[in-house]
Amino acid sequence: MLNTILEKVDSSNPSLNIVALKKAANILKNDGLVAFPTETVYGLGANALREEAVKKIYIAKGRPSDNPLIVHIADKNHIYPLVDSVPKTALILMDKFWPGALTIILKKSSIIPKTTSGGLDTVAIRMPSNKIALALIKECGFPIAAPSANTSTKPSPTLASHVLKDLNGKIDMIIDGGSCDFGIESTVVEVNNNNVTILRPGSITKEMLESVVENVAIDKALLNNNSNILAKSPGMKYKHYAPLGDVFIVDGDINNIVKYIINCLSNDKINNINSVVIASDETINNYSSFNALNIGSRENLDLIAKNLFNILRECDKLNIDKIYIESFLEQGVGLAVMNRLKKAAGYKIIKV
Ligand code: AMP
Ligand code: MG
Repeated sequence: MLNTILEKVDSSNPSLNIVALKKAANILKNDGLVAFPTETVYGLGANALREEAVKKIYIAKGRPSDNPLIVHIADKNHIYPLVDSVPKTALILMDKFWPGALTIILKKSSIIPKTTSGGLDTVAIRMPSNKIALALIKECGFPIAAPSANTSTKPSPTLASHVLKDLNGKIDMIIDGGSCDFGIESTVVEVNNNNVTILRPGSITKEMLESVVENVAIDKALLNNNSNILAKSPGMKYKHYAPLGDVFIVDGDINNIVKYIINCLSNDKINNINSVVIASDETINNYSSFNALNIGSRENLDLIAKNLFNILRECDKLNIDKIYIESFLEQGVGLAVMNRLKKAAGYKIIKV
């Protein structure tokens, strides 16, 4: 059991706590593990170039070894030693979206250990915009491999307290930089011969990508409502984002959704089942006689993305057995929100 150090750092001005950053960098230089905030979710970092270090990430998270890690850099030019080559399309995407929530997959160079790339000959790279993340990578002087800092299968962490809950005693340090801006993981794209395919939707939407490159495809596995179609991104095939209770997505006309969920909640009450509805600003008043959590306005999908993982973790705190959630439009960021929800629900979608 490790003694996990928790240090607060101001995300708008990390240099105010340079002592904590240096402490974190020192741990990483010695092949240790440090969780830190990014603009998407908290990451669990290790030296991406050291097999001994990245192995510890898989162990701490309980992550399957064939699920590759995202390598984080603090300068666009630092991509070159990590990959075989950078196609023109990747350069366009980097110029437009880095620093930011876009992860680009390219053929890896030999300095990336197979453990980092989950045994693949490609590597996922991102330059985050969070100032703490950037300062930490710079302080280290090497790229940091960092998947989400949660136990595998659990909802991703958007607060330092989420990381502490999952990984206390399993990692060396957590940098608490407050809540993450987006609250949902990065968009992952594969760039192959200048063709772009979205393997995991995120807050950089298909429409945003299409504003700078032509022909953005979506991995087929993302468009299907079942888990049997093999995803191109290894991580997408695993159970993920799941709270302890059973999640049910209710999809259809919003009035029918509300009626259906009220009926379920009433039955659960009679049967002493501890259930909850995750509702929106627009519908919350309908559920006043039941357990209801408000995820935000249906008009503001960015806010819904930001609240999603925290609200799923709240359900665990309340020991909820059944969670009903109203579905969202699969457009823009809604595609990412519904992708995470479907996995949280194990694809249990009720059409009404
Ligand atoms: P996480 O950092 O926990 O959000 O997970 C990273 C995601 O990126 C997972 O879904 C991985 O499977 C995916 N990923 C990372 N590297 C690659 C790669 N080389 N090819 C395909 N997917 C990747
Ligand atoms: Mg993850």
